[in-house]
Amino acid sequence: MSVAIIGGGISGLALAHGLHSRGTEVTLLEAGPRLGGNIQSRHREGFLTEAGPNSFVDREPAVRALAASLGIEGHIRTADPSAKRRYIYTRGKLRVVPMSPPALLKSDVLPLGAKLRMMGELFTRRAPEGDESLAAFGRRHIGPKATAVLVDAMQTGIYAGDVEALSVAAIFPKVVELERQHRSLVLGMARTQAAERKALPPGEGAPRPSGAVCSFDGGLQVLVDALAKALGPVARTGVRLVGLRREGTGWRLTVEEHGQQAELAADKVVLAVPAYVAAGLLRPLDETLATRLEGISYAPVAVVHLGFAPGSTPQPDGFGFLVPSLERRRVLGVIHASATFPWRAEGGRILYTCMVGGAKRPELVEQDEEALVKLAREELRELAGVTAEPSFTEVIRWKRGIPQYNVGHLARVAAIDEDVARLPGLYLTGNAYKGVSLIDCIRGASALADSLAR
Ligand SMILES: Cc1cc2nc3c(=O)[nH]c(=O)nc-3n(C[C@H](O)[C@H](O)[C@H](O)COP(=O)(O)OP(=O)(O)OC[C@H]3O[C@@H](n4cnc5c(N)ncnc54)[C@H](O)[C@@H]3O)c2cc1C
Repeated sequence: MSVAIIGGGISGLALAHGLHSRGTEVTLLEAGPRLGGNIQSRHREGFLTEAGPNSFVDREPAVRALAASLGIEGHIRTADPSAKRRYIYTRGKLRVVPMSPPALLKSDVLPLGAKLRMMGELFTRRAPEGDESLAAFGRRHIGPKATAVLVDAMQTGIYAGDVEALSVAAIFPKVVELERQHRSLVLGMARTQAAERKALPPGEGAPRPSGAVCSFDGGLQVLVDALAKALGPVARTGVRLVGLRREGTGWRLTVEEHGQQAELAADKVVLAVPAYVAAGLLRPLDETLATRLEGISYAPVAVVHLGFAPGSTPQPDGFGFLVPSLERRRVLGVIHASATFPWRAEGGRILYTCMVGGAKRPELVEQDEEALVKLAREELRELAGVTAEPSFTEVIRWKRGIPQYNVGHLARVAAIDEDVARLPGLYLTGNAYKGVSLIDCIRGASALADSLAR
């Protein structure tokens, strides 16, 4: 069996590795000049910056298992312990995010009335039928103010989305399941934890993932480079898929390389490309499928790195801060990159990573680099009091950055799965469908590798 994988982001790479290491004949085709998709770590002027993703949360073994299979588990680095502290900018200042119910009661992140309303969670009504927005779900459980501050900030940190549009069932399926079973999330969590304690006496069972924020010593690129090395000539860059048609029981691919067109044959084809690219490739085969794929929208995001000389401004503390949209600011959030991962800034330098744009302010990403640096500096000064002049700046714009799992996403993906099943030997994977995080992408690719190898 021969498999052609299109797209050399983490999804395509993890899938190619899963199959290649089992001895399956694989070719991975990447249109761009390098592998990694939106993972790209750069060493410049004493800073290690990330163009796209910054980190992964060690909450399930997907990344560790992949790293172990590549012999690079020893390069995983855990964030500084102080990164457990996170902030939200609300009501005029940065306030610590409470990490437990007692801490919430003492915290100033919400006004008293909103905290009292949150206690009413215990009496929440069950969900109405059908999909629901994250905001509607949040308001039902913890009230409007806590939703506008805490829930909005939480989704901003992952999706840069619109809390009124995102589907709670698509992005937090476990929370929806908790509600289905227990009505109240607080009751559900208490019962689940009690059941877990009973089932597993302390000290028994497999070691659990730490739940800590992690990266690699040379940035996330370390993972990409190790995958590229393991794949060798199997992974080809500068090769764009431009056409796809059925041929017998397999597929014929038209690719473009150095301005020349060529044809390839494969028994199976996996599109590990953004949904809008898959839509263009599949339109001649199935118009309905293409329209469904095109309906998955993407939020644009600009990443603005501001680096400071040692001693020019204090090293901030904590992972960083998020800004709920009700504050009407121009940054979505800021990562304290050098405080979280001290090895990413040499000799005591300070690195802030500002995120701009998102589903609610897409126009901000259209600005030129100079304007984005100015915006990030102004916001950092007004929200976090950083007045020093940066010695280093870098701007990366993702015009279609993060797929939005809006209300209806699960039904759309189920319909896409049905459409794809009518095209035997064709598969889709990637961040547009069943999870946007690196962990989700790797888990999805591994599951597909298992099923293809069977
Ligand atoms: C700014 C930003 C910050 C993020 N932060 C985090 C984070 O901190 N933690 C986290 O877990 N996740 C984060 N994410 C999400 C995560 O990075 C992505 O979901 C994941 O990297 C997507 O991988 P992918 O392989 O599915 O897609 P991509 O990385 O988009 O790869 C798709 C590849 O397909 C190629 N391609 C396109 N068309 C063709 C064609 N016709 N022929 C051949 N190749 C083609 C593209 O060039 C690209 O390389 C972030 C995303 C962004 C944008």
